[in-house]
Amino acid sequence: MNEYLKKVLNNTKNKNMYETEYLQAVEEVLTSIEPVVASHPEFERIALLERLIEPERIITFRVPYVRDNGKTEVHRGYRVQYNSLIGPYKGGLRFHPSVNQSIIKFLGFEQIFKNALTGLPIGGGKGGSDFDPKGKSDGEIMRFCQSFMTELQRHIGADIDVPAGDIGVGEREIGYLFGQYKRIRDVYEGGVLTGKGLSYGGSLVRKEATGFGLIYFMKEMLENNNQTLKGKTVTISGAGNVAIYACQKALEYGANVVAMSDSKGCVYDENGIDLELIKQIKEVERGRISEYLRKHPQAKYIECKGEDSPIWEIKTDIALPCATQNEVTLNSAKKLVANGVIAVGEGANMPCMKEATEYFINNKVLLAPAKAANAGGVAISAVEMSQNSMRYYLSFEEVDKKLGEIMTNIFNTCKNAAEEYNLGNNYSAAANIAAFKKLSNAMISQGIV
Ligand code: NDP
Repeated sequence: MNEYLKKVLNNTKNKNMYETEYLQAVEEVLTSIEPVVASHPEFERIALLERLIEPERIITFRVPYVRDNGKTEVHRGYRVQYNSLIGPYKGGLRFHPSVNQSIIKFLGFEQIFKNALTGLPIGGGKGGSDFDPKGKSDGEIMRFCQSFMTELQRHIGADIDVPAGDIGVGEREIGYLFGQYKRIRDVYEGGVLTGKGLSYGGSLVRKEATGFGLIYFMKEMLENNNQTLKGKTVTISGAGNVAIYACQKALEYGANVVAMSDSKGCVYDENGIDLELIKQIKEVERGRISEYLRKHPQAKYIECKGEDSPIWEIKTDIALPCATQNEVTLNSAKKLVANGVIAVGEGANMPCMKEATEYFINNKVLLAPAKAANAGGVAISAVEMSQNSMRYYLSFEEVDKKLGEIMTNIFNTCKNAAEEYNLGNNYSAAANIAAFKKLSNAMISQGIV
């Protein structure tokens, strides 16, 4: 590794010793941008990498709320306003008990690169809380969201910072957050949050955008390598927003989705996953995926035990990790490769452990990297912001067409960078390089800030 990169990586490790996910994300980027950094020795003098790595601002705050049983619970809220080089901070809010500063910083760091790849004017940010929405009543969710927004509202705005959803934050939560923002600020500022409901400023296709976008990217990548989705077996981890709409689009393209999962286990249905039932269980009942067997007793339910998810043991042509970070271990990658996987599409953020990513690339598996392949969600969030500014709404077909164009552009950006830097099919390194070039140009233009 280049000396400057080595120095920056070591300093980042020393300063953030306990933030493992964050260090993993930074190391992955620094390792892959070496060819660009090596040809720009002036970057060191202007501390370009140090400035890119240091978040502009990290905000943490107390979030108390009252449970239905009268007891008060206190959680920690976060917003990392990472980088505003090319637009207002933009990135989702995650409500999950595993949330900590390392997770929010890794997600925020990735978001800068992802947002740059969309070609739209959005900077990078991320936030959330260690609050677990599972098993909470609607009233508890509303009170938590109201308390969270009471603090967050000081820091956001349509031209400042625009949060959206992520794990545990969907349309219901965005609605409660938006209502509280409007109440406190006394202004109808549609563009302050995205992922809103359609009746009060949301965009058609936003709900579907990340999953659809992942499949649009996958289709481009396969076609470029003389393959198609038609007739391919697909397994998808997760059964949330990204997984469900990736499944829907994969089915539309003639793929056969045979397995999906949640954090407790996975269902394997040789006859093909019944997506309407998954939507009913997950979107309406907010239940466990094991309930799939009540209608399809011939399907298998395999419980998660230990670090390796059972879903990656199922033979498949295409694997789509759409649940969470580091869900594909090296062991899982080896099983997938041994079973003949041809492509992996990262719907979740950083779903493959470093060793798993390397294993896929070394074994010539086509890997659609998260920063590029799941950028459809944030891209359509930016389109939602444009519609809010215009006070005019686009049709489903118009937004979906736009999404398709954006994903094709992102794929071509990755492909061109891969060609220029002789990276073969290493689209992960190519995505990092393409985004980094755009960001470093903007940094140089804007001076030392
Ligand atoms: P949801 O909350 O809608 O769904 C998450 C799914 O993943 C659920 O099925 C959940 O299972 C499962 N899951 C969550 N945490 C874990 C865990 N620790 N181990 C195993 N399974 C887990 O979230 P999204 O679909 O919105 O997000 C999924 C991923 O996609 C995340 O990495 C997110 O950052 C990324 N992403 C999301 C975007 C969006 O637009 N929503 C945009 C770009 C990326 P259970 O129900 O049991 O908790």
